[in-house]
Amino acid sequence: MFGTVPLADPDPTIAELIAARPHLRMHAQDGLLFEGVPLNAIADALATPVWAYGAGTMRARLAALTAALAGLDAHVHYAVKANDHLAVLRVLARGGAGADVVSGGELARALRAGIPGGRVVFSGVGKTAAEIAAALDAGIAQFNVESARELDAISDVAAAMGRTAPVALRVNPDVDAGTHPKITTGRAGDKFGIPYGDAHMLYARAAALPGLRPVGLALHIGSQIVTLAPYRAAFARAAALVRTLRAAGHPVARLDCGGGLGIGYRDPTEAVPAAFAGVLRAAFAGMDLELMIEPGRWLVGPAGVLLATVVRVKDGWVVLDAAMNDLARPAMYDAWHGIVPLAAVRAQAAAVPLDVVGPVCESADTFARARPLPPLADGDRVAILDAGAYGAVMSSTYNARPLAPIALIDGARWAPIRARQPVEALWHGESVPAFLDEGS
Ligand SMILES: *Cc1c(COP(=O)(O)O)cnc(C)c1O
Repeated sequence: MFGTVPLADPDPTIAELIAARPHLRMHAQDGLLFEGVPLNAIADALATPVWAYGAGTMRARLAALTAALAGLDAHVHYAVKANDHLAVLRVLARGGAGADVVSGGELARALRAGIPGGRVVFSGVGKTAAEIAAALDAGIAQFNVESARELDAISDVAAAMGRTAPVALRVNPDVDAGTHPKITTGRAGDKFGIPYGDAHMLYARAAALPGLRPVGLALHIGSQIVTLAPYRAAFARAAALVRTLRAAGHPVARLDCGGGLGIGYRDPTEAVPAAFAGVLRAAFAGMDLELMIEPGRWLVGPAGVLLATVVRVKDGWVVLDAAMNDLARPAMYDAWHGIVPLAAVRAQAAAVPLDVVGPVCESADTFARARPLPPLADGDRVAILDAGAYGAVMSSTYNARPLAPIALIDGARWAPIRARQPVEALWHGESVPAFLDEGS
């Protein structure tokens, strides 16, 4: 639910974590099931660390969000940066989602996955001329423009190509989303968007530039938002701006409301589609606006887990074969992720506080501190929950650790959708110049 449910203290138990996630179930013999498929089968076949995604969960979440928007002229553009795998994009595209991209690479991925250019929105503060040209070639729905200079740049590229670029001005509504400082984007001091007070002048300028066709406004106030108040505040400011611009004679047809819907990592407090849609209805009633939303995390976050094996238990530390190079969120944002043993017998044992870490040579390589978990032994497997968003997309090969494989579950089936990176691929493209071996 959206709201002010206080942090459950102590941490949720394993049984509570499973009960709050309809896609998870503990089977006495087969262990932890994800959409009915034993995660042990995936770990047996592909080894760990390995990611597992559930297509059914992604589909169900998109369907729930779409259903909540019924009656509104509103379209979902999935924020590709949350999880850009081609198979994930295909699942969501088939469910009716367009794409919100922030780079030429994401545009290429979206097109490759079969999302039509006309269903793509291009966001981001640093679009290059080459990326703008590629997006115009693809016939995207709109550019969400972040600055006056970017308006000029898009106009120049479009005019040179003999095209007119549809643009929306991304305004910074100056509201605090009340989320982690590294993922809040809608305050006056953040690098994103056009200052609210400049929007009117820039809209007029966009209308006057030869290569541009202003179609509306956009905003995005941050990520992992689980209360409605920041949305209410931002949408009220956006609605006021639309009215001002229309009163000045500008046709403002569209409003892109951004993403940011939060999920329940620790507490079962997540953004509820009906409540969010209610805020949209209240804010824009009778305005005849075409609305867009750009959820990333909410659609795919709960739909992925990272499976790992305990390499060694060292004093109070449980060292996994997965690390911060695989899942960066705990190290980067102090993020809390549920950890559940795959074996039913383990999951039922009495909990003791454990530190769960990865093998990377950084103290930040810590998945959990003093987490109540059953005693774990070398060779035990665990699932790190809610890793479908900002998980594999943020992986690196730090410490020369190859990228982990990925499996996709769909119904009773599953298939590998990415192979483990071979070690030799780590130095692919590198060369050692001959002069290093000259002389001496
Ligand atoms: C990151 C981002 C999103 C998606 O955010 P989530 O929190 O994953 O929903 C949407 N729009 C823009 C412009 C973004 O930068």
